[in-house]
Amino acid sequence: KPALTKIGAQMSNLTGVRAIMKDINETLRANQGQVLYNLSAGNPLILPEVEQLWRDCTADLLASAEYGEVVCRYGSSQGYAPFIAAIVKDFNQRYGLQLTERNILVTAGSQTIYFYAANAYGGYTEDCKLKKIVLPLSPDYTGYGGVSICPESLIAYKPTLDVDDVNHRFKYRPDFTQLSITQETGCVIFSRPCNPTGNVLTNEEVEKIAALATPYDVPVFIDSAYAPPFPALNFTEMKPVFGENIIHCISLSKAGLPGERIGLAIGEEKLLQVLECFQTNAGIHSSRYGQAIATRAIESGALANIAETVIRPFYQHKFDVLESTLDAVMPKDLPWFLHRGEGAIFAWLWLQELPISDWEFYQQLKKVGVIVVPGSSFFPGLEENWEHKHQCLRISLTGTDEEISIGMQRLAKIAQEVYHQ
Ligand code: PLP
Repeated sequence: KPALTKIGAQMSNLTGVRAIMKDINETLRANQGQVLYNLSAGNPLILPEVEQLWRDCTADLLASAEYGEVVCRYGSSQGYAPFIAAIVKDFNQRYGLQLTERNILVTAGSQTIYFYAANAYGGYTEDCKLKKIVLPLSPDYTGYGGVSICPESLIAYKPTLDVDDVNHRFKYRPDFTQLSITQETGCVIFSRPCNPTGNVLTNEEVEKIAALATPYDVPVFIDSAYAPPFPALNFTEMKPVFGENIIHCISLSKAGLPGERIGLAIGEEKLLQVLECFQTNAGIHSSRYGQAIATRAIESGALANIAETVIRPFYQHKFDVLESTLDAVMPKDLPWFLHRGEGAIFAWLWLQELPISDWEFYQQLKKVGVIVVPGSSFFPGLEENWEHKHQCLRISLTGTDEEISIGMQRLAKIAQEVYHQ
């Protein structure tokens, strides 16, 4: 094997949930033929109406004179012009903004926005000062764990917890007494709605974070992969927040196009330029086929409509099944707390004072055929010892109603055994 550089070695580490996916895939392979309740997936389901929408848009593209221009030619790194125009029009109308095409950058999936941002704004400056990438509320998206080629720049903050003891519910809030954004901060990133917790930061919380960053010209990347208008995976009222130092980042992955790799950064041109150059160097541009079919779905209003009428109710129902099953089967005397299900495609369960680690609990669940993701993989950038990091589980809402319901019944039984051992 050729020797790797420091960055090469770093990038070949499986970070966060990818490491666990390896274990899960091995489990699935080893247990073929057995019934497994797999509630670990981060991959959205293929919903028939959504697939049909993309099929129809594809048929329309195939029949149009545009086809050759779209798939047989390179384009600009900023993105496909008709797609950018459709986004500008949609967002201006919907949110009363004054965006122009210079406020949009299309990327190869939204993951790459965070990779470009983390390395353009975080890491060492020319005069060797370390600029931090701040995650204001931990836990957050595990994919932030691998984005920086300078891992010491990533720093996350512990949240405060609003706990409803009677109803076994809780909600994370940013801890503004601890959160520090200074001249040493390079950028801020958080997901809203949040993967893995389903949390939606309030508008006031978002505005407060943006205001803390303003005096230092720190860009704030709001990862809106689950937000309205598409995929609209918010189960609670939420309005996207825009502002001078805010880059609103969206993704079409949860709206049925994860394979096409389409992300969008919306914000001030001066903040997007460096990201666009990064993209030119890394991969030239995103798939133009994906952008061309998305143009059709956005211009007609079909995408926003299907998001509200199909995608959101589908996952909201899954959360309802999970929540009502847990309420029915979890022992009342145990300190279990379900995070408020405000959005995304996951439920987040906190087992306070769990006598074993989340990883051991995950292993016990595997033995009864239920697969979830241990929560400790979702605290990138939070180095400090905090028992809470080992007391949580992420449960995917991509299972069938039966899988979710049986999975939670078995989880309740294991919880009972583990706490009373
Ligand atoms: N951000 C969040 C919060 C996610 O959950 C995901 C994918 O699961 C991504 C970003 C990356 O999505 P993509 O690169 O497909 O746009």
